[in-house]
This record gives sequence, C-alpha cells and structure tokens, in this order.
Amino acid sequence: MKPWHLVHLQRMLRDQWKSPEELADIQNAKLRQLIRHAHARVPVYRRLFDEAGIRPSDIQTVDDLPRIPIMSRRTLHESPLEDRLARGVEPDRCRQSATSGTTGIPLKLHVTPRDATLKSLTWARAFLSRGMRPWDRMVAFIGQEHVRTASSWYERVGLWRRREVSTWAGPEAWVHEIRQWRPRALVGYVMTLRLLADHLLRAGIDDVTPSLVFHSSAVLDDVSRRFLEGTLRTRIVDIYGSDEAGCIAWECGACRGYHVSSDVLVVELLRNGNRVSPGEEGEVIITNLHAYAMPFIRYAQGDVARMSTEPSACGRGLPLLERIEGRTDDFLVLRGGKMISPHPVYHCIDHVPGIARWKAVQHAVDQLTVYIELERRHEPAAIHGAVRRNLQALLGPEVALTVETVECLPVDPSAKFRVVTSTVGAVLT
Ligand SMILES: [Zn+2]
Repeated sequence: MKPWHLVHLQRMLRDQWKSPEELADIQNAKLRQLIRHAHARVPVYRRLFDEAGIRPSDIQTVDDLPRIPIMSRRTLHESPLEDRLARGVEPDRCRQSATSGTTGIPLKLHVTPRDATLKSLTWARAFLSRGMRPWDRMVAFIGQEHVRTASSWYERVGLWRRREVSTWAGPEAWVHEIRQWRPRALVGYVMTLRLLADHLLRAGIDDVTPSLVFHSSAVLDDVSRRFLEGTLRTRIVDIYGSDEAGCIAWECGACRGYHVSSDVLVVELLRNGNRVSPGEEGEVIITNLHAYAMPFIRYAQGDVARMSTEPSACGRGLPLLERIEGRTDDFLVLRGGKMISPHPVYHCIDHVPGIARWKAVQHAVDQLTVYIELERRHEPAAIHGAVRRNLQALLGPEVALTVETVECLPVDPSAKFRVVTSTVGAVLT
C-alpha cells in the first residue's frame, strides 16, 4: 500500500455518496480516457473500433457505448496476447492469472500492479461498507493449492490482514486455521462455505463464529444463503465480482439489492443487443474503467441480472442491481462421502495452456471425465498429461481420470452450460 492507494480509496469512499448525476460525470470522463487509450494502444480494440467505423471522439458518454460491438470472452481468448495487451506493457512485469470463471473458457489475465491495486480497492470499499474495519483479520478461501504466505508491510503493522486458506485442504484444516487465527471475517465461494458450514454442523463445532461472512465468485442461491446464515449465525454479504472487473456490485445493508461500482466500471444489461429497463433481465456487459494493461470494454461477463426499480435507501448514488443470475456447478463426491468444491477444479485446468474450452463430468464416485476443446496447433498429449496430473493431486489416486479431446463439448440436459457436473448426488445437511 502506498500513499496514492489511500488517496484513491478515500476518493472512492467519498464518491459512492455523490448524486447519480455527479457519478455519471465521473464515469463518462473515465470512459473517454479509456477509449482513447484502447484505440491508441491496444490492437484488438483498435481493430474493433476501425471495423465498426468508430473514432474515439464518437464515444463521449455511456449512452454512446452501444456503437461498440460486444467483446466476447471467446474472441479475447483467441486473440494473441500481444493484441490484447497495451503497447508498452511488459508481460513479465504483470501479475498473471488464468480464469474461466464458470464459463469453461480459460482466459489468461495480465494486470499491472497499478491496475491490480485499483481492482483490490473496489473490494476494500465493499468490505468497509459492510462493517469490516482496516485492523480486522480476514480469511480468504482460494482455489489454488499453494497459498500466499508472505505478508505486506501494512499487514505487519496490523492493517488489512488477510490469510489465504486453500480449498484443497478440506474443512478440518479450515477449522484449524480459523481457530488459530480467529479472523473477524471470512470470504469464500458458495460451495466452499457450504462445505465448511456442513462440517461445523456435523461435527457439532460451535466456536467458529465469524462476525462477517462475504460471499463472492458465483451466484448465491436462496437455499444456500438460508443454510449458511443459519449455521454461521450471521448475515451473508454477497459480492458480485470477477477477475476481469473486480467488485462489480455488493449487497447493501440498507437497500434491497447490490450497489454497482459505477465510478469504476460500467454495467450494461442487454437483451437481443438492446438495453433493458429496470426490473427486466439482461445479459451483463462490463466496461472496466480501471483496466489499462488489458482492457475489458463491452465485455460479456456471462451472467444475467436485473436493475432495481427501487431508489437507493442508504443515500449512496450508485445504482442498484436487484438480482444476479448465473451458473452454478456441482460438488464432486468421492468415496466415503468426501466432497470437493468445484473451485479448485477450475484451477487445476485453467492454468494449462492450449485449452479453448473444457467441461468436467463425474459419472461415478471414482470416475471423472474431462472434455477438452483444444486451441489450434496444440498437441493433446502434453495437455492431457498436465490436466491429469493436476486433478490426480487434488482428487487422489482412487479416482480414475479420463481426459478426452472433443470437437464440441457435450451439451448439458439442463440447457444451462455448467463446467463441473456430477451425477453422484451430493448430500449436504
Ligand atoms: Zn444502499
């Protein structure tokens, strides 16, 4: 954390209370700057604008955005890195990650330290607005096997202390970590939180009582919310976010719905290419106003949401989303009833280069098949080997793994594309 981070956070904390008109001015000014940058320095957008006959000066406000074609995850995935990355940004100096979210299409992200900080401040604002204090400790459940162990200087002086806990470790290890470290807040993905809550209930554990529980990275269904709130004995605060955009919207304590971080991004809701009215469902399209190394402009996030028809009750000028719908994946169930959240499964596969799209299906308790559409010019043998090795490390030797290259992924009978599905019934409390 550097002085400019605090200045920026302070500005964001102040801006959320501005009027919708003032916020629109902030948003439009940032949008104009981003569009000029993308046109001048990012080949994939330069081409997109040129093909659509758009000059940067044509985009003055959010109302001009529909002139720009939608950018799909697939198009970005298929573009070479040098086309997606702004000229002058050195990939080696970026933080790199891979994410498929819940789409099954892995996308490699490159983020400069500055862009990464701005993104994490969007999360910080959401946490602060729901009662988190800078000196509180937080446990974050992450999908990677190996967690960050180094702490920053501000953590060493007692601020923003965050301990990462790997979802690979399982509920007993999570409880051990929470008991040892006694965080005030937890943040995790619905399936992980459900596994934790289920374990607390079954094992009769009553000393894991975080004051704050934040949910992120997937859709929180009503049944899971009720179960988690009953077991963890606190309200769950849902945060709608993504690796590409940071905190897109967070649940307000006073309003019914989620405040959109409209000072740092643009959310459009579309149906058949047209913006929908409040109360109507539309596909979520994001423009991240703070991503400069690898911009996301009119980027299809892959979720569906509705804007609220009600005004803000808390005084914030940020618009309200009423509801977010998205995809949900299944748990994997292993012999003996052990359940694995889909979260680490994404990490086993997303980081393997050469995969255009994937889907994992558990057909039986000891059988998992991963279907893969390969990128062009990639040899299947090395990819299959890497996927198998990663998953075997997660699931153990007793699960027989099959990796198959397919031309087209199998269609889900539920008609909703799901990345991790299991026909072995997961029974949670
Ligand atoms: Zn509010």
